[in-house]
Amino acid sequence: MTTLTLDHNFVPLENFGHSMRAPSYVFKPTCIEEIAQTFQLAKKTGLTVAARGAGRSYNDAALNGGGIILDLSGLNHITQWDPSTGQVVAEPGVTLEQLWQKVEPEGWWPPVVSGTMRTTLGGCLGANIHGKNNFKVGPIGEHVIEFTAILPTGAEISCSPKKNADLFYSMISGLGMLGIFTSVTLQMKRVYSGLLEVVAHPQGNLHEHLTDLLVNAPTYDYVVGWLDATTGGRGLGRGQTHSARYLQEGEDPQPDKTMSLKNQVLPSRIFGIFPKSIVYIFMGPFMNNLGTWAVNTGKYIASLPRHTFRESHAAFHFLLDYIPNWELAYGRGGLIEYQSFLPKETAEAAWGEMLRLSLKRGLPSYLGVTKRHRPDNFLLSHAVDGFSLAMDFKVTDGSRAKLHQMLQDFDRIVLEAGGRFYFAKNSETTSESTLRFLGAETIVKFKKLKKRCDPNEILESDLYRRIFE
Ligand SMILES: Cc1cc2nc3c(=O)[nH]c(=O)nc-3n(C[C@H](O)[C@H](O)[C@H](O)COP(=O)(O)OP(=O)(O)OC[C@H]3O[C@@H](n4cnc5c(N)ncnc54)[C@H](O)[C@@H]3O)c2cc1C
Repeated sequence: MTTLTLDHNFVPLENFGHSMRAPSYVFKPTCIEEIAQTFQLAKKTGLTVAARGAGRSYNDAALNGGGIILDLSGLNHITQWDPSTGQVVAEPGVTLEQLWQKVEPEGWWPPVVSGTMRTTLGGCLGANIHGKNNFKVGPIGEHVIEFTAILPTGAEISCSPKKNADLFYSMISGLGMLGIFTSVTLQMKRVYSGLLEVVAHPQGNLHEHLTDLLVNAPTYDYVVGWLDATTGGRGLGRGQTHSARYLQEGEDPQPDKTMSLKNQVLPSRIFGIFPKSIVYIFMGPFMNNLGTWAVNTGKYIASLPRHTFRESHAAFHFLLDYIPNWELAYGRGGLIEYQSFLPKETAEAAWGEMLRLSLKRGLPSYLGVTKRHRPDNFLLSHAVDGFSLAMDFKVTDGSRAKLHQMLQDFDRIVLEAGGRFYFAKNSETTSESTLRFLGAETIVKFKKLKKRCDPNEILESDLYRRIFE
Protein backbone atom coordinates (compact mmCIF):
# COMPACT_ATOMS: atom_id res chain seq x y z
CA MET A 1 0.00 0.00 0.00
CA THR A 2 1.44 3.41 -0.82
CA THR A 3 -0.70 6.28 0.48
CA LEU A 4 -4.00 5.05 1.82
CA THR A 5 -7.11 6.90 0.73
CA LEU A 6 -10.82 6.25 0.98
CA ASP A 7 -11.10 5.85 -2.80
CA HIS A 8 -11.31 2.18 -2.03
CA ASN A 9 -14.13 -0.14 -2.80
CA PHE A 10 -17.08 0.55 -0.57
CA VAL A 11 -18.05 -3.08 -0.23
CA PRO A 12 -21.53 -4.33 0.80
CA LEU A 13 -20.34 -6.80 3.44
CA GLU A 14 -22.63 -9.31 5.18
CA ASN A 15 -22.46 -11.57 8.22
CA PHE A 16 -22.07 -15.32 7.72
CA GLY A 17 -25.83 -15.85 8.16
CA HIS A 18 -26.63 -13.25 5.42
CA SER A 19 -29.15 -11.62 7.75
CA MET A 20 -27.20 -8.37 8.31
CA ARG A 21 -25.66 -5.95 5.82
CA ALA A 22 -23.03 -3.25 6.41
CA PRO A 23 -21.23 -1.49 3.53
CA SER A 24 -17.68 -0.57 4.53
CA TYR A 25 -14.33 0.61 3.20
CA VAL A 26 -12.28 -2.58 3.02
CA PHE A 27 -8.49 -2.54 3.37
CA LYS A 28 -6.51 -5.74 3.04
CA PRO A 29 -3.05 -5.23 4.57
CA THR A 30 -0.13 -7.39 3.51
CA CYS A 31 2.15 -6.36 6.40
CA ILE A 32 1.95 -4.85 9.89
CA GLU A 33 3.03 -1.44 8.60
CA GLU A 34 -0.14 -1.28 6.49
CA ILE A 35 -2.29 -1.96 9.57
CA ALA A 36 -0.61 1.05 11.22
CA GLN A 37 -1.32 3.15 8.12
CA THR A 38 -4.98 2.16 8.25
CA PHE A 39 -5.18 3.35 11.87
CA GLN A 40 -3.64 6.68 10.80
CA LEU A 41 -6.16 7.03 8.00
CA ALA A 42 -9.00 6.33 10.42
CA LYS A 43 -7.73 8.98 12.81
CA LYS A 44 -7.48 11.48 9.98
CA THR A 45 -10.94 10.78 8.58
CA GLY A 46 -12.76 10.18 11.87
CA LEU A 47 -13.82 6.69 10.75
CA THR A 48 -13.74 3.63 13.00
CA VAL A 49 -11.98 0.33 12.20
CA ALA A 50 -13.04 -3.29 12.78
CA ALA A 51 -10.95 -6.38 12.11
CA ARG A 52 -12.27 -9.19 9.94
CA GLY A 53 -10.72 -12.62 9.53
CA ALA A 54 -12.82 -14.93 7.36
CA GLY A 55 -16.10 -13.20 8.28
CA ARG A 56 -17.50 -16.49 9.63
CA SER A 57 -19.13 -14.94 12.67
CA TYR A 58 -22.86 -15.52 12.42
CA ASN A 59 -23.53 -11.94 13.53
CA ASP A 60 -22.09 -8.41 13.28
CA ALA A 61 -18.77 -9.13 15.08
CA ALA A 62 -16.82 -8.45 11.88
CA LEU A 63 -19.07 -5.72 10.42
CA ASN A 64 -18.61 -1.97 10.70
CA GLY A 65 -21.29 -0.16 8.70
CA GLY A 66 -19.97 3.06 7.14
CA GLY A 67 -16.52 2.51 8.64
CA ILE A 68 -13.32 0.70 7.76
CA ILE A 69 -12.86 -3.07 7.71
CA LEU A 70 -9.34 -4.43 8.10
CA ASP A 71 -9.47 -7.69 6.17
CA LEU A 72 -6.63 -9.73 7.69
CA SER A 73 -7.05 -12.79 5.48
CA GLY A 74 -4.01 -11.75 3.42
CA LEU A 75 -1.65 -12.22 6.40
CA ASN A 76 -1.82 -15.97 6.05
CA HIS A 77 1.60 -17.53 6.51
CA ILE A 78 2.60 -20.22 8.95
CA THR A 79 5.98 -18.76 9.87
CA GLN A 80 7.36 -21.51 12.15
CA TRP A 81 6.43 -25.13 12.76
CA ASP A 82 8.31 -27.49 15.05
CA PRO A 83 6.99 -31.07 14.80
CA SER A 84 9.18 -32.13 17.73
CA THR A 85 7.32 -29.84 20.19
CA GLY A 86 4.04 -29.21 18.37
CA GLN A 87 4.48 -25.43 18.57
CA VAL A 88 3.35 -23.35 15.64
CA VAL A 89 3.78 -19.64 14.94
CA ALA A 90 1.34 -18.17 12.43
CA GLU A 91 -0.01 -14.92 11.06
CA PRO A 92 -3.60 -14.02 12.05
CA GLY A 93 -5.14 -14.77 8.65
CA VAL A 94 -4.04 -18.43 8.71
CA THR A 95 -7.17 -20.59 8.67
CA LEU A 96 -7.80 -23.67 10.77
CA GLU A 97 -7.84 -25.55 7.47
CA GLN A 98 -4.26 -24.44 6.70
CA LEU A 99 -3.25 -25.27 10.25
CA TRP A 100 -4.56 -28.82 10.53
CA GLN A 101 -3.36 -29.67 7.03
CA LYS A 102 0.14 -28.56 8.06
CA VAL A 103 0.34 -30.40 11.38
CA GLU A 104 -1.73 -33.54 11.09
CA PRO A 105 0.51 -35.53 8.71
CA GLU A 106 3.19 -35.17 11.41
CA GLY A 107 1.01 -36.46 14.25
CA TRP A 108 -0.57 -33.28 15.69
CA TRP A 109 -4.02 -31.67 15.68
CA PRO A 110 -5.15 -28.14 16.68
CA PRO A 111 -6.18 -28.25 20.36
CA VAL A 112 -9.50 -26.46 19.75
CA VAL A 113 -11.40 -26.08 16.47
CA SER A 114 -14.71 -24.53 15.47
CA GLY A 115 -17.41 -26.42 13.55
CA THR A 116 -15.98 -24.97 10.34
CA MET A 117 -12.33 -25.04 9.25
CA ARG A 118 -12.68 -21.77 7.31
CA THR A 119 -12.13 -19.51 10.36
CA THR A 120 -8.84 -17.63 10.86
CA LEU A 121 -6.61 -17.67 13.93
CA GLY A 122 -7.19 -13.94 14.50
CA GLY A 123 -10.96 -14.46 14.44
CA CYS A 124 -10.68 -17.55 16.65
CA LEU A 125 -8.74 -15.59 19.28
CA GLY A 126 -10.99 -12.53 18.94
CA ALA A 127 -14.04 -14.63 19.84
CA ASN A 128 -12.05 -17.17 21.94
CA ILE A 129 -13.71 -20.09 20.21
CA HIS A 130 -14.69 -23.33 21.90
CA GLY A 131 -14.72 -26.83 20.44
CA LYS A 132 -16.60 -30.02 21.22
CA ASN A 133 -13.92 -30.58 23.90
CA ASN A 134 -14.54 -27.30 25.77
CA PHE A 135 -15.44 -29.14 29.00
CA LYS A 136 -11.99 -30.74 28.96
CA VAL A 137 -9.46 -28.32 27.46
CA GLY A 138 -11.18 -24.91 27.64
CA PRO A 139 -11.29 -22.39 24.79
CA ILE A 140 -8.53 -21.81 22.22
CA GLY A 141 -7.01 -19.05 24.39
CA GLU A 142 -5.83 -21.63 26.90
CA HIS A 143 -3.51 -23.09 24.23
CA VAL A 144 -1.93 -19.80 23.14
CA ILE A 145 1.66 -19.59 24.32
CA GLU A 146 2.13 -16.03 23.15
CA PHE A 147 0.76 -13.49 20.68
CA THR A 148 1.91 -10.20 19.26
CA ALA A 149 -0.48 -7.39 18.43
CA ILE A 150 -0.54 -3.84 17.16
CA LEU A 151 -2.61 -1.28 19.06
CA PRO A 152 -4.43 1.65 17.42
CA THR A 153 -1.74 3.91 18.95
CA GLY A 154 0.76 2.16 16.68
CA ALA A 155 2.46 0.42 19.65
CA GLU A 156 3.41 -3.23 19.12
CA ILE A 157 3.12 -5.56 22.10
CA SER A 158 3.61 -9.20 22.96
CA CYS A 159 1.47 -11.01 25.53
CA SER A 160 1.49 -14.38 27.26
CA PRO A 161 -0.19 -15.68 30.42
CA LYS A 162 2.80 -14.19 32.31
CA LYS A 163 3.71 -11.14 30.20
CA ASN A 164 1.10 -8.36 29.91
CA ALA A 165 -1.29 -10.91 31.41
CA ASP A 166 -4.18 -8.44 31.71
CA LEU A 167 -4.04 -7.86 27.95
CA PHE A 168 -3.53 -11.56 27.25
CA TYR A 169 -6.79 -12.44 29.03
CA SER A 170 -8.76 -9.55 27.55
CA MET A 171 -7.52 -9.31 23.95
CA ILE A 172 -8.30 -13.02 23.59
CA SER A 173 -12.12 -12.85 23.76
CA GLY A 174 -11.92 -9.06 23.19
CA LEU A 175 -13.64 -9.09 19.74
CA GLY A 176 -10.81 -7.12 18.12
CA MET A 177 -11.69 -4.04 20.16
CA LEU A 178 -8.33 -3.59 21.93
CA GLY A 179 -5.82 -4.31 19.17
CA ILE A 180 -5.05 -6.44 16.15
CA PHE A 181 -3.28 -9.80 16.53
CA THR A 182 -0.30 -9.95 14.22
CA SER A 183 1.23 -13.31 15.18
CA VAL A 184 0.06 -16.26 17.29
CA THR A 185 2.13 -19.01 18.92
CA LEU A 186 -0.05 -22.01 19.57
CA GLN A 187 0.53 -25.45 21.12
CA MET A 188 -0.83 -28.36 19.07
CA LYS A 189 -2.14 -31.63 20.55
CA ARG A 190 -0.23 -34.90 19.91
CA VAL A 191 -2.34 -37.58 18.16
CA TYR A 192 -1.49 -41.18 17.31
CA SER A 193 -4.05 -41.74 14.59
CA GLY A 194 -5.98 -39.78 11.99
CA LEU A 195 -9.14 -41.35 13.37
CA LEU A 196 -11.37 -40.84 16.39
CA GLU A 197 -13.54 -43.54 17.91
CA VAL A 198 -17.08 -42.20 17.98
CA VAL A 199 -20.12 -43.54 19.84
CA ALA A 200 -23.49 -42.30 18.57
CA HIS A 201 -26.33 -42.45 21.12
CA PRO A 202 -29.99 -41.62 20.34
CA GLN A 203 -31.68 -39.42 22.98
CA GLY A 204 -35.46 -39.49 23.36
CA ASN A 205 -35.94 -36.14 25.12
CA LEU A 206 -34.14 -33.15 26.62
CA HIS A 207 -33.53 -34.80 29.98
CA GLU A 208 -31.87 -37.85 28.40
CA HIS A 209 -29.97 -35.59 26.02
CA LEU A 210 -28.36 -33.39 28.70
CA THR A 211 -27.78 -36.30 31.07
CA ASP A 212 -25.86 -38.09 28.33
CA LEU A 213 -23.58 -35.08 27.70
CA LEU A 214 -22.96 -34.77 31.43
CA VAL A 215 -22.25 -38.44 32.04
CA ASN A 216 -20.09 -38.98 28.95
CA ALA A 217 -17.93 -35.86 29.26
CA PRO A 218 -15.54 -37.25 31.93
CA THR A 219 -14.73 -40.37 29.91
CA TYR A 220 -14.49 -38.97 26.37
CA ASP A 221 -12.37 -36.30 24.68
CA TYR A 222 -15.29 -34.74 22.77
CA VAL A 223 -19.06 -34.65 23.24
CA VAL A 224 -21.63 -32.97 21.00
CA GLY A 225 -25.33 -33.39 20.36
CA TRP A 226 -27.75 -32.78 17.51
CA LEU A 227 -31.12 -31.60 18.87
CA ASP A 228 -34.38 -31.80 16.92
CA ALA A 229 -36.07 -28.51 17.85
CA THR A 230 -39.06 -29.11 15.58
CA THR A 231 -40.69 -31.78 17.76
CA GLY A 232 -42.62 -31.12 20.98
CA GLY A 233 -44.51 -33.20 23.52
CA ARG A 234 -42.71 -36.20 24.94
CA GLY A 235 -40.05 -35.92 22.24
CA LEU A 236 -39.09 -32.34 23.18
CA GLY A 237 -35.31 -32.05 23.02
CA ARG A 238 -34.80 -35.44 21.38
CA GLY A 239 -31.76 -35.98 19.18
CA GLN A 240 -28.49 -37.83 19.00
CA THR A 241 -25.21 -37.32 20.85
CA HIS A 242 -21.74 -38.18 19.61
CA SER A 243 -19.00 -38.93 22.13
CA ALA A 244 -15.50 -39.40 20.73
CA ARG A 245 -12.07 -40.35 22.00
CA TYR A 246 -8.56 -40.19 20.57
CA LEU A 247 -6.96 -43.52 19.73
CA GLN A 248 -4.02 -44.41 21.99
CA GLU A 249 -0.57 -45.12 20.57
CA GLY A 250 -0.66 -48.56 18.91
CA GLU A 251 -4.46 -48.74 18.53
CA ASP A 252 -4.28 -47.66 14.89
CA PRO A 253 -2.19 -50.15 12.86
CA GLN A 254 -1.63 -47.61 10.07
CA PRO A 255 -1.32 -44.13 11.63
CA ASP A 256 0.72 -42.70 8.74
CA LYS A 257 -2.04 -43.65 6.33
CA THR A 258 -4.95 -42.37 8.46
CA MET A 259 -3.14 -39.10 9.21
CA SER A 260 -2.36 -38.41 5.56
CA LEU A 261 -4.26 -35.56 3.94
CA LYS A 262 -5.76 -37.94 1.40
CA ASN A 263 -7.57 -39.69 4.24
CA GLN A 264 -8.75 -36.48 5.86
CA VAL A 265 -9.82 -34.07 3.14
CA LEU A 266 -13.61 -33.91 2.79
CA PRO A 267 -14.79 -35.19 -0.61
CA SER A 268 -16.14 -32.55 -3.00
CA ARG A 269 -18.63 -34.96 -4.64
CA ILE A 270 -21.36 -37.27 -3.38
CA PHE A 271 -20.86 -40.88 -4.57
CA GLY A 272 -17.91 -39.45 -6.53
CA ILE A 273 -20.34 -37.91 -9.07
CA PHE A 274 -22.67 -35.25 -7.72
CA PRO A 275 -20.88 -31.94 -6.87
CA LYS A 276 -21.60 -30.97 -3.26
CA SER A 277 -21.33 -27.29 -4.16
CA ILE A 278 -24.90 -27.33 -5.52
CA VAL A 279 -26.52 -29.46 -2.80
CA TYR A 280 -27.74 -26.38 -0.91
CA ILE A 281 -30.07 -25.58 -3.84
CA PHE A 282 -31.90 -28.87 -3.24
CA MET A 283 -32.12 -28.14 0.50
CA GLY A 284 -34.05 -24.90 -0.11
CA PRO A 285 -37.54 -26.49 -0.58
CA PHE A 286 -37.20 -28.27 2.80
CA MET A 287 -36.34 -25.10 4.74
CA ASN A 288 -39.79 -24.60 6.22
CA ASN A 289 -41.45 -25.89 9.40
CA LEU A 290 -42.98 -28.99 7.81
CA GLY A 291 -39.96 -29.83 5.65
CA THR A 292 -37.44 -29.65 8.52
CA TRP A 293 -39.78 -31.59 10.83
CA ALA A 294 -39.93 -34.37 8.21
CA VAL A 295 -36.14 -34.34 7.66
CA ASN A 296 -35.45 -34.25 11.41
CA THR A 297 -37.87 -37.11 12.06
CA GLY A 298 -36.15 -39.20 9.39
CA LYS A 299 -32.76 -38.33 10.85
CA TYR A 300 -33.93 -39.23 14.37
CA ILE A 301 -35.31 -42.61 13.28
CA ALA A 302 -32.08 -43.34 11.38
CA SER A 303 -30.09 -42.51 14.52
CA LEU A 304 -31.96 -44.98 16.73
CA PRO A 305 -29.62 -47.90 17.18
CA ARG A 306 -26.63 -46.88 19.32
CA HIS A 307 -23.50 -47.54 17.28
CA THR A 308 -19.72 -47.11 17.35
CA PHE A 309 -17.50 -46.23 14.43
CA ARG A 310 -14.16 -44.66 13.53
CA GLU A 311 -14.09 -41.35 11.70
CA SER A 312 -11.35 -38.96 10.53
CA HIS A 313 -10.69 -35.86 12.65
CA ALA A 314 -11.75 -33.57 9.80
CA ALA A 315 -15.03 -35.44 9.21
CA PHE A 316 -15.89 -35.43 12.93
CA HIS A 317 -15.10 -31.77 13.53
CA PHE A 318 -16.14 -30.08 10.32
CA LEU A 319 -19.53 -31.62 9.63
CA LEU A 320 -20.84 -28.16 8.70
CA ASP A 321 -18.27 -27.93 5.88
CA TYR A 322 -19.69 -31.05 4.21
CA ILE A 323 -22.20 -29.02 2.23
CA PRO A 324 -20.58 -25.82 0.91
CA ASN A 325 -22.77 -22.70 1.19
CA TRP A 326 -25.44 -24.58 3.19
CA GLU A 327 -26.37 -21.25 4.80
CA LEU A 328 -27.73 -20.05 1.43
CA ALA A 329 -30.45 -22.71 1.66
CA TYR A 330 -32.14 -20.44 4.24
CA GLY A 331 -33.08 -18.09 1.42
CA ARG A 332 -32.96 -14.35 0.90
CA GLY A 333 -33.47 -13.33 4.57
CA GLY A 334 -30.69 -15.58 5.80
CA LEU A 335 -30.45 -17.08 9.27
CA ILE A 336 -29.84 -16.06 12.84
CA GLU A 337 -27.95 -18.35 15.19
CA TYR A 338 -28.82 -18.04 18.87
CA GLN A 339 -26.42 -19.77 21.26
CA SER A 340 -27.06 -19.70 24.98
CA PHE A 341 -24.86 -21.14 27.72
CA LEU A 342 -26.61 -22.37 30.85
CA PRO A 343 -25.46 -23.82 34.17
CA LYS A 344 -26.05 -27.57 34.30
CA GLU A 345 -28.58 -27.10 37.14
CA THR A 346 -30.91 -24.77 35.19
CA ALA A 347 -30.40 -25.78 31.56
CA GLU A 348 -33.16 -28.35 31.22
CA ALA A 349 -35.95 -26.15 32.57
CA ALA A 350 -34.84 -23.04 30.65
CA TRP A 351 -34.34 -24.77 27.30
CA GLY A 352 -37.57 -26.72 27.79
CA GLU A 353 -39.38 -23.39 28.14
CA MET A 354 -37.60 -21.90 25.11
CA LEU A 355 -38.21 -24.89 22.87
CA ARG A 356 -41.92 -24.94 23.79
CA LEU A 357 -42.18 -21.19 23.20
CA SER A 358 -40.60 -21.46 19.73
CA LEU A 359 -43.03 -24.24 18.76
CA LYS A 360 -46.02 -22.32 20.13
CA ARG A 361 -45.06 -19.25 18.09
CA GLY A 362 -44.51 -21.28 14.93
CA LEU A 363 -40.81 -20.33 14.85
CA PRO A 364 -38.90 -23.54 15.55
CA SER A 365 -35.15 -23.72 15.08
CA TYR A 366 -34.20 -25.84 12.07
CA LEU A 367 -30.88 -26.96 13.58
CA GLY A 368 -29.99 -27.43 17.24
CA VAL A 369 -26.52 -28.29 18.55
CA THR A 370 -25.59 -28.98 22.17
CA LYS A 371 -22.20 -29.06 23.91
CA ARG A 372 -20.75 -29.46 27.42
CA HIS A 373 -18.64 -26.57 28.82
CA ARG A 374 -16.59 -25.40 31.76
CA PRO A 375 -15.75 -21.80 32.84
CA ASP A 376 -12.50 -20.04 31.85
CA ASN A 377 -10.50 -16.96 32.91
CA PHE A 378 -10.91 -14.77 29.83
CA LEU A 379 -12.51 -11.38 30.42
CA LEU A 380 -15.44 -11.56 27.98
CA SER A 381 -16.06 -15.26 28.54
CA HIS A 382 -19.21 -16.96 27.33
CA ALA A 383 -18.60 -20.27 29.08
CA VAL A 384 -20.27 -21.70 32.20
CA ASP A 385 -20.12 -25.01 34.07
CA GLY A 386 -22.96 -26.44 32.05
CA PHE A 387 -24.09 -26.73 28.46
CA SER A 388 -24.69 -24.68 25.35
CA LEU A 389 -27.51 -24.94 22.87
CA ALA A 390 -27.07 -23.28 19.45
CA MET A 391 -30.26 -22.83 17.44
CA ASP A 392 -30.52 -21.66 13.82
CA PHE A 393 -33.61 -19.67 12.82
CA LYS A 394 -34.72 -18.84 9.31
CA VAL A 395 -35.33 -15.10 8.76
CA THR A 396 -38.03 -13.94 6.36
CA ASP A 397 -39.67 -10.55 5.89
CA GLY A 398 -42.72 -11.97 7.64
CA SER A 399 -40.86 -13.54 10.59
CA ARG A 400 -38.16 -10.94 11.33
CA ALA A 401 -40.12 -8.89 13.89
CA LYS A 402 -41.67 -11.96 15.57
CA LEU A 403 -38.24 -13.60 15.75
CA HIS A 404 -36.73 -10.48 17.28
CA GLN A 405 -39.42 -10.49 19.97
CA MET A 406 -38.96 -14.20 20.65
CA LEU A 407 -35.20 -13.88 21.02
CA GLN A 408 -35.72 -11.06 23.55
CA ASP A 409 -37.97 -13.47 25.46
CA PHE A 410 -35.23 -16.11 25.20
CA ASP A 411 -32.71 -13.62 26.61
CA ARG A 412 -34.95 -13.04 29.62
CA ILE A 413 -35.28 -16.81 30.26
CA VAL A 414 -31.52 -17.36 29.87
CA LEU A 415 -30.60 -14.46 32.16
CA GLU A 416 -33.05 -15.58 34.84
CA ALA A 417 -31.46 -19.03 34.67
CA GLY A 418 -27.94 -17.56 35.20
CA GLY A 419 -26.85 -18.02 31.58
CA ARG A 420 -24.56 -16.30 29.09
CA PHE A 421 -24.43 -15.57 25.36
CA TYR A 422 -21.75 -15.92 22.68
CA PHE A 423 -20.69 -12.67 21.02
CA ALA A 424 -19.65 -14.41 17.78
CA LYS A 425 -23.14 -15.78 17.20
CA ASN A 426 -26.08 -13.95 18.77
CA SER A 427 -27.25 -10.98 16.78
CA GLU A 428 -29.97 -9.72 19.11
CA THR A 429 -28.16 -9.41 22.49
CA THR A 430 -28.65 -5.87 23.83
CA SER A 431 -26.38 -3.77 26.04
CA GLU A 432 -28.80 -4.38 28.95
CA SER A 433 -28.50 -8.17 28.56
CA THR A 434 -24.72 -7.84 28.22
CA LEU A 435 -24.53 -5.84 31.44
CA ARG A 436 -26.58 -8.46 33.25
CA PHE A 437 -24.51 -11.47 32.31
CA LEU A 438 -21.04 -9.93 32.23
CA GLY A 439 -21.58 -7.72 35.28
CA ALA A 440 -20.71 -4.03 35.71
CA GLU A 441 -17.25 -4.81 37.11
CA THR A 442 -16.19 -6.73 33.99
CA ILE A 443 -17.49 -4.03 31.67
CA VAL A 444 -15.70 -1.26 33.60
CA LYS A 445 -12.48 -3.32 33.48
CA PHE A 446 -12.83 -3.86 29.73
CA LYS A 447 -13.53 -0.18 29.08
CA LYS A 448 -10.47 0.83 31.14
CA LEU A 449 -8.29 -1.47 29.05
CA LYS A 450 -9.92 -0.09 25.91
CA LYS A 451 -9.04 3.46 26.95
CA ARG A 452 -5.43 2.37 27.54
CA CYS A 453 -5.06 0.51 24.22
CA ASP A 454 -7.32 2.67 22.06
CA PRO A 455 -7.51 6.19 23.54
CA ASN A 456 -9.02 7.67 20.34
CA GLU A 457 -11.72 4.99 20.12
CA ILE A 458 -10.71 3.88 16.65
CA LEU A 459 -11.63 0.20 17.02
CA GLU A 460 -15.37 -0.30 16.82
CA SER A 461 -17.65 -2.82 15.17
CA ASP A 462 -21.42 -2.98 14.79
CA LEU A 463 -21.36 -5.63 17.51
CA TYR A 464 -19.37 -3.40 19.86
CA ARG A 465 -21.84 -0.53 19.44
CA ARG A 466 -24.74 -2.93 20.03
CA ILE A 467 -23.50 -4.57 23.23
CA PHE A 468 -21.48 -1.85 24.92
CA GLU A 469 -23.20 1.43 24.17
C1 LIG B 1 -20.38 -23.10 10.32
C2 LIG B 1 -19.83 -22.44 11.55
C3 LIG B 1 -19.53 -23.20 12.67
C4 LIG B 1 -19.01 -22.59 13.81
N1 LIG B 1 -18.70 -23.37 14.89
C5 LIG B 1 -18.19 -22.79 16.00
C6 LIG B 1 -17.80 -23.58 17.11
O1 LIG B 1 -17.93 -24.79 17.10
N2 LIG B 1 -17.29 -22.94 18.18
C7 LIG B 1 -17.11 -21.59 18.22
O2 LIG B 1 -16.62 -21.08 19.24
N3 LIG B 1 -17.46 -20.82 17.17
C8 LIG B 1 -17.98 -21.39 16.08
N4 LIG B 1 -18.32 -20.62 15.00
C9 LIG B 1 -18.10 -19.17 15.09
C10 LIG B 1 -16.69 -18.81 14.60
O3 LIG B 1 -15.75 -19.75 15.04
C11 LIG B 1 -16.29 -17.46 15.15
O4 LIG B 1 -17.23 -16.50 14.77
C12 LIG B 1 -14.91 -17.02 14.67
O5 LIG B 1 -14.60 -15.83 15.35
C13 LIG B 1 -14.90 -16.77 13.16
O6 LIG B 1 -13.57 -16.58 12.73
P1 LIG B 1 -13.27 -15.59 11.51
O7 LIG B 1 -11.85 -15.73 11.15
O8 LIG B 1 -14.26 -15.77 10.46
O9 LIG B 1 -13.46 -14.21 12.26
P2 LIG B 1 -14.44 -12.99 11.92
O10 LIG B 1 -15.84 -13.45 11.96
O11 LIG B 1 -13.97 -12.32 10.70
O12 LIG B 1 -14.13 -12.09 13.21
C14 LIG B 1 -14.48 -12.56 14.51
C15 LIG B 1 -14.03 -11.54 15.56
O13 LIG B 1 -12.60 -11.54 15.65
C16 LIG B 1 -12.08 -10.24 15.38
N5 LIG B 1 -10.83 -10.42 14.65
C17 LIG B 1 -10.63 -11.03 13.46
N6 LIG B 1 -9.33 -11.02 13.15
C18 LIG B 1 -8.68 -10.38 14.14
C19 LIG B 1 -7.32 -10.03 14.40
N7 LIG B 1 -6.33 -10.37 13.58
N8 LIG B 1 -7.04 -9.34 15.53
C20 LIG B 1 -8.01 -9.01 16.41
N9 LIG B 1 -9.31 -9.32 16.23
C21 LIG B 1 -9.64 -10.01 15.11
C22 LIG B 1 -13.18 -9.54 14.58
O14 LIG B 1 -13.11 -8.13 14.73
C23 LIG B 1 -14.43 -10.12 15.21
O15 LIG B 1 -14.76 -9.46 16.41
C24 LIG B 1 -18.81 -21.19 13.84
C25 LIG B 1 -19.10 -20.41 12.71
C26 LIG B 1 -19.60 -21.04 11.58
C27 LIG B 1 -19.91 -20.21 10.37
